[in-house]
Amino acid sequence: MAVIIDNVLDARAPRHPEKAHRPDQPVMRKPDWIRVKAPVSSGYAQTQQIVRANGLHTVCEEAGCPNIGECWEKKHATFMIMGDTCTRACAFCNVKTGLPGALDQAEPDHVAEATFKLGLSHVVVTSVDRDDLADGGAAHFAAVIGAIRARCANTTIEVLTPDFLRKEGAVETVVRARPDIFNHNLETVPSKYLTVRPGARYFASIRLLQRVKEIDPRMFTKSGIMVGLGEERDEVLQVMDDLRAADVDFLTIGQYLQPSRKHHAVMRFVPPDEFKALATIAYAKGFSMVSASPLTRSSHHAGEDFARLRAARAAR
Ligand code: SF4
Repeated sequence: MAVIIDNVLDARAPRHPEKAHRPDQPVMRKPDWIRVKAPVSSGYAQTQQIVRANGLHTVCEEAGCPNIGECWEKKHATFMIMGDTCTRACAFCNVKTGLPGALDQAEPDHVAEATFKLGLSHVVVTSVDRDDLADGGAAHFAAVIGAIRARCANTTIEVLTPDFLRKEGAVETVVRARPDIFNHNLETVPSKYLTVRPGARYFASIRLLQRVKEIDPRMFTKSGIMVGLGEERDEVLQVMDDLRAADVDFLTIGQYLQPSRKHHAVMRFVPPDEFKALATIAYAKGFSMVSASPLTRSSHHAGEDFARLRAARAAR
């Protein structure tokens, strides 16, 4: 059964005031290969209870992730720190936009507690963009990593960070906190940045990933893009080359899904065979780990994939 997560009908409180006056974009019917599990299991309910009890936000819910039924059944939730309100307004993203509140100083402990309660052997922590903060939220990321290490010594930690608005010292702060894997998504090809990710700069994001490896050559790095936004195949291959030039280990490629009529339209549903072909090319270009499928998301199966990534490096 396909679950359609769509906020189109919620006109009472627009999550994205900056998009409210934009013209509606056409909504394409999802193809048969976009099939997801309904969020109805007891595991799902338990995950939800632990998330709520700790007052946390998850990107699973805020981004309307299609995999939530599958992931939460297994108690795999991806925490979204520093509030539920983002200072950017990307054309693809369902996270609420506006002026965020002050940081919750107890959040690192709450994330650590929820990680413990969920029994996570691998935890993924992401955040909204906090361009309003002097360090973009880097110190808060570091505090969350530290709190998880203290509470769950055997849990591996993956961070999926924003670009910190290119603020000096931010990447260094997070790397020094020693996450096991540092993820920063490019999201799309450079020609689409102005329309899809206008607050970011493509080469600044590449440079961020390269900088992680300069500071700690042993740290695993990861990045991802969505396809179906109107990009050309050659542009995707160029992104792969740019990421390899920055020594990125792990690439994810997934289908873009349109959260509402006010978001960027899906230009094409890429068939599963094309994802397989892209994965083959990406491996040939030297990535140690590639996940490419219509429902691939940065944090989907992140624990299993991280184990494979470590094994691939060990084998080399
Ligand atoms: S793929 Fe990631 S964001 Fe989506 S439900 Fe799973 S853990 Fe959450």
